[in-house]
Amino acid sequence: MPDVAIVTAKGARRWDMGHPWIYRSDVSTKPTCPAGAVPVRGHSGKSLGWALWSPHSEISLRLLDRHPDATIDESWWHSRIVEALRRRESLNSAASAYRLVHGEADGCPSIICDKYDRWLVVQLLSAGAESFRDAILSALDALIKPLGILARNDVPIRDRERLPRLAEILQGSVPREIEVQEHGIRYLAAPWDGQKTGAFLDQRENRAMVGKVAVGRALDCFSYHGSFALHLARRASSVIALDSSAAALDRARQNAQCNDFTNIEFTVADAFDFLRAEASSGSQYDTIVLDPPAFAKTKSALRGALRGYKEINLRAMRMLSPGGMLFTASCSFHLDKRDFLQMLQEAASDSGRRLALREFRGQPLDHPEVLTIPETGYLKGALIEALD
Ligand code: SAH
Repeated sequence: MPDVAIVTAKGARRWDMGHPWIYRSDVSTKPTCPAGAVPVRGHSGKSLGWALWSPHSEISLRLLDRHPDATIDESWWHSRIVEALRRRESLNSAASAYRLVHGEADGCPSIICDKYDRWLVVQLLSAGAESFRDAILSALDALIKPLGILARNDVPIRDRERLPRLAEILQGSVPREIEVQEHGIRYLAAPWDGQKTGAFLDQRENRAMVGKVAVGRALDCFSYHGSFALHLARRASSVIALDSSAAALDRARQNAQCNDFTNIEFTVADAFDFLRAEASSGSQYDTIVLDPPAFAKTKSALRGALRGYKEINLRAMRMLSPGGMLFTASCSFHLDKRDFLQMLQEAASDSGRRLALREFRGQPLDHPEVLTIPETGYLKGALIEALD
């Protein structure tokens, strides 16, 4: 008989409301077994299903299956991953790099798996997920037959689970750079040392969308590997790819070469300084992209973050030529959709321009945002046109 977790009424209610996490304070009887899958019961003894159990985390239980008689084994993971793959079938022809498993949103809590051409990069972000490492890898191997699987487990969130931070090969081998394509643009992902699992896959569809409307003189601020700049370069006459990281722009330069673009200029600079200087010199751009890192990493950092977001957006709005387009994004989880839009409205009002919200964008289908699980959504984007 396996160990059992007994949860409070409040804990049980979270599952009823569609959220998979039960916090430590809502587990009245903790399992004594090590991290793994445990059956969960309510106070009355009613079976609630199965959860991943993390003995050291504040998030003690993550819902796996509501069926009390489920068996959490390799074939269970296999069928969960099959569902996740099915959801993404339509992406296959558009891109060779996309997310296969988006954690809780795909019913695979604390597990991320990204595909870069024939290789996979995974993140196992809880002790419970780690305990199923072999089963998950076997299922991925059987379904995808990758040439190699890398774990990018070098992330701070693992500290909370008392798991070590490290990047390691779990199967086969994985190159330092992988050439992938998205909507006809080729670029090099950096699975070992790039940000996230090697690239910002979550902006893929937004990059393609902005690429379709780009014209004239274009500016891609916070460019990283030149990701938006490459799409802009298809239609714009000239593009500045700006980032504070020279190493990121070195790869951006290689990426421009991969696509034979000669109209991209690379500028290592602080975006705040650059925008301030450009605005005061009266520069104008026909297309601007702002895709900054998360300024609000915690809830308490939100006020300061809002000042930063507003400053760059206000300057960009002022620099748009008449008819120009701004694509602006925020990946701060703590800045919700309403606050993001309000910040844009305030910047627009201060800019003295008439600006139209042409599209409000979120995450692509490989990063599903589940309405009852706010933590699965973080990315917001707006396409704004200067009407005069
Ligand atoms: N647009 C990219 C992702 C950008 S991530 C894509 O679609 O792939 C954020 C980038 O901002 C990182 O490359 C980081 O080096 C850069 N960055 C962070 N702070 C910056 C600053 N103050 N000025 C310019 N770039 C900055």
